[in-house]
Amino acid sequence: MERAVSAPARPRPIIAIDGPAGAGKSSIARRLAEVLGYVLVDTGAMYRVVALAAQRAGVAFGDAAGLGTLAHALVTRGALAFERDEARGVRVRLDGEDVTDAIRTPEVGMGASTVSAHKGVRDALLDLQRQAGRAGGVVLEGRDIGTVVFPDAEVKFFLTARPEVRAQRRHAELIARGQGVSLEETLADVRQRDEQDTGRAVAPLRQAPDALLVDNSDVGIEDTVARMVARIREKRG
Ligand code: C5P
Repeated sequence: MERAVSAPARPRPIIAIDGPAGAGKSSIARRLAEVLGYVLVDTGAMYRVVALAAQRAGVAFGDAAGLGTLAHALVTRGALAFERDEARGVRVRLDGEDVTDAIRTPEVGMGASTVSAHKGVRDALLDLQRQAGRAGGVVLEGRDIGTVVFPDAEVKFFLTARPEVRAQRRHAELIARGQGVSLEETLADVRQRDEQDTGRAVAPLRQAPDALLVDNSDVGIEDTVARMVARIREKRG
């Protein structure tokens, strides 16, 4: 008698966290990875490094072919490096240079949103993301982890919060980093990024059908993480 052969289960799961800008994904993913003892993969940082590299190389954010070539070249020569860091969660390097702070400006964030709409850029980073996650025991955060990068992730979350709350959090972060922007500007930025991320043709921001929607507008990080850990235990038995 023939039996259906299913793919061997990963000993430790892939946790996918998607959601819009400023939903608290970074802090929550970082804390969740810490609690579980898993590796953290910040895919937004990968798009940000490509945007920064493009800016420096003088490649326009609208130049689809140029950006695709640049992103492939960066990946092929191993220019992007991500290291675990106690203080920052992930330390990011571009050709050896520490760009952890340089990729966190609003300009690079908006640039990342624009360059990430190009298929060539997404294709170049997809392999990197799959390599980083395929063994399991990993928390990946981004926009299309549960829908495109790992549609077979064992546990998926769609993390969101009201736009005003997201703008307030982003604004506080930027001010803490000494960047002088107004709350109004930050809210406009959040709304524009939402539009760009959900409206693009390639890998738009969407909640996967099997993702748990977590709105943390009125819930703190620790309570949100506790809820997510409970969900992971429930799904993993
Ligand atoms: O999450 P973060 O703000 O660092 O992401 C920067 C930009 O990178 C997002 O606005 C989004 O357009 C893009 N991104 C993406 N797919 C991912 C992660 C980020 O398109 N998986």
